[in-house]
Amino acid sequence: RIGYGKLLIATGSVPTQLHGASGDRFIAMRSLANYRRLRELVSADATAIVVGGGFIGTEIAAALAANGVAVTLIFPQEVLGSAVFPAVVADRFQTAYLDHGVTLVPGRLADHAVVGADGRPGVVLDDGSEYYASVVVAGLSAKPDLRLGSDAGLEVNRGIVVDEHLKTSDPVIWAAGDIAEYPDVILGRTRIEHVDHAQTSGATAGRSMAGSEEIYDHTPFFWSDAFEIGWEAIGRLDARLDTEVVDLGEGRYVVYYLDDKSRPVGVLLWGVWDSVDKARQILAEAPTDRAELRGRIV
Ligand SMILES: Cc1cc2nc3c(=O)[nH]c(=O)nc-3n(C[C@H](O)[C@H](O)[C@H](O)COP(=O)(O)OP(=O)(O)OC[C@H]3O[C@@H](n4cnc5c(N)ncnc54)[C@H](O)[C@@H]3O)c2cc1C
Repeated sequence: RIGYGKLLIATGSVPTQLHGASGDRFIAMRSLANYRRLRELVSADATAIVVGGGFIGTEIAAALAANGVAVTLIFPQEVLGSAVFPAVVADRFQTAYLDHGVTLVPGRLADHAVVGADGRPGVVLDDGSEYYASVVVAGLSAKPDLRLGSDAGLEVNRGIVVDEHLKTSDPVIWAAGDIAEYPDVILGRTRIEHVDHAQTSGATAGRSMAGSEEIYDHTPFFWSDAFEIGWEAIGRLDARLDTEVVDLGEGRYVVYYLDDKSRPVGVLLWGVWDSVDKARQILAEAPTDRAELRGRIV
């Protein structure tokens, strides 16, 4: 046992593994150890199945394909990226994967993991079809492990609930990063699984634990890269929302995601750089005039 005067909980998220997966050729991507094992498994002539078309699945699929691995990517949407990007952007995203030789299996869920007669790992899909490869990577959603928080009697909801100082319901316990559900100054109460948030909230929590009165007022951004595509974003990316798409030419887009009062709640900067601060300012001001919005980042 180790006692404490003050405690920070920053235990992150736990990845979701495929039902029935056993053995080290099924990787639920999270850690450096996962990455090292994946590298071992994808030597020459390797094949890989990646399950999940979200940020993690698409990044892993792109990285494997760029390293010469024959990749099959299984995802439930009809078009890759269409859960978060508007159609014009999702089409470009999907085309990049096809151009780089990734085999796409859209509109399907992996039902469970399976090991073939030859010992290769595989998946059985919801239509009964089976796929096998050298390695199966689950890029499924991650969840915070809230047990530590609830066992300590802390208020928990989607994460461990903290205030603007990242302090939990116990005055000597703080939480930061993926595990914390915090009151964002622009986005409202939220839980964010991204690096900028993990680093900035961690630093703020540390200063708060040392006696600072500062509040965590940084609305974090996030990013992803796949092949020649790179993007940054802030706020909520959800293709079910109304969007205002600004085509800046040469495959560059700014996409504003609007709530039911036409206020921007998310900004996607597709191939557009050095504009995160402007996007953050737009979310803070929440202009509802679309013409004004279109002229803000050019
Ligand atoms: C494959 C992958 C790709 C990603 N790509 C991006 C990206 O491109 N951009 C981006 O912004 N974000 C990305 N993320 C998300 C980002 O990595 C996370 O949001 C960030 O790492 C969260 O930091 P954290 O410190 O809260 O948790 P973690 O980084 O998960 O660290 C938590 C640590 O706590 C340890 N731990 C857990 N429980 C206990 C316990 N009971 N006792 C002791 N230690 C414990 C864990 O082992 C781990 O080492 C990616 C994540 C993954 C998995």
